[in-house]
Amino acid sequence: MGKLLLWVVLIALAWLGWSLFRVSQRKAAARQRQAPATRREPDADSPAPETMTRCARCGVYLPAGEALRSDAQDYCSPAHRDAGPHQS
Ligand SMILES: [Zn+2]
Repeated sequence: MGKLLLWVVLIALAWLGWSLFRVSQRKAAARQRQAPATRREPDADSPAPETMTRCARCGVYLPAGEALRSDAQDYCSPAHRDAGPHQS
């Protein structure tokens, strides 16, 4: 009988933990949905820090926050920015 009670307690705890996990996930998702509006940078043209962009010279992907912007193109390094977009 004691063993059955132990299982009931374990299952209840697992369910409780899962419920808390789900709630925290939903809260985190809600916060992420709100974040872009509250965390907007002064100039509206610059993309959010989380978005990925591509170097116009070598094609490497990097966070838009770390990209160097020039003439509406993103670059991974000053050298590539100075070299300009890749000519094919
Ligand atoms: Zn590059």
